[in-house]
Amino acid sequence: INDMDKDTMARIIAITNQKGGVGKTTTCVNLAASLAATNRKVLLIDFDPQGNATMGSGVDKHALELSSYHLLLEDVPVEQLIVDAEAAGYHLLPGNSDLTAAEVQLMQVEARETRLQQRIAPVRDKYDYVLIDCPPSLNMLTLNALTAADAVFIPIQCEYYALEGLSALVETIEQIREAINPDLEIEGLLRTMYDARNNLANEVSEQLLEHFGDKVYRTIIPRNVRLAEAPSFGAPIIKYDRTSRGAIAYLALAGELLRREHEREQPETVENDDA
Ligand code: ADP
Ligand code: MG
Repeated sequence: INDMDKDTMARIIAITNQKGGVGKTTTCVNLAASLAATNRKVLLIDFDPQGNATMGSGVDKHALELSSYHLLLEDVPVEQLIVDAEAAGYHLLPGNSDLTAAEVQLMQVEARETRLQQRIAPVRDKYDYVLIDCPPSLNMLTLNALTAADAVFIPIQCEYYALEGLSALVETIEQIREAINPDLEIEGLLRTMYDARNNLANEVSEQLLEHFGDKVYRTIIPRNVRLAEAPSFGAPIIKYDRTSRGAIAYLALAGELLRREHEREQPETVENDDA
């Protein structure tokens, strides 16, 4: 792809961490809504059989006739699968427990890692961002997401075992880069559910900064009960309680992502500003 094409094509970001309960889905839904609130066109792909991102976007996962399963294994064109999660402000390619079967069936098809990449290609020029909510394991669904993605975003809960799985994830990203997706980059690491009064959280945060430096996003997502409540209303936090600390944090996260991208594209402007 040349640079011209890149300008009109969505940036695809996989939100991944093989640990469960670290804030992947919360980040996916709320980053999607926050980017949409800045007038970006966003598609959220729910790639987790739990379907939490689907529910959190206000779409009933139990009522789906078609889902991302059909994208991967039934040759249903992507356009027929995308729904307008109107209340959330973005488009959704929903997912549910059908994806559990996809995980198994993908093992038996050809070009199994590149399915997602191939199937979403027709809509890539219709969005600014495509965010993929990954399941909590490094399985075939996650491999598809990492193969389709330009970048990986890694939510991390700063607790004792947080760093343990991280090296395995970084290694996997490395392998995918070498084997199939040479441009895959780590967009950033995000500290989630953060409680600054917790000494351990602060220690783990320090270690993250030591190991990953600038890759660690400056924005920190605090532990905020409103963020945990919002999904039961089928809404991103900015639609549920836009003055909450959680809402402000996720809007700031979208701002940081856009700013970092802008700085990568125009490094000279940034240097001049500093001088
Ligand atoms: P994952 O997708 O990685 O499994 P989730 O985003 O589903 O993680 O988050 C796990 C649980 O923690 C959910 O119940 C969610 O509502 C809650 N949660 C996520 N982020 C926060 C936060 N910043 N503050 C409070 N609760 C949170
Ligand atoms: Mg999840």
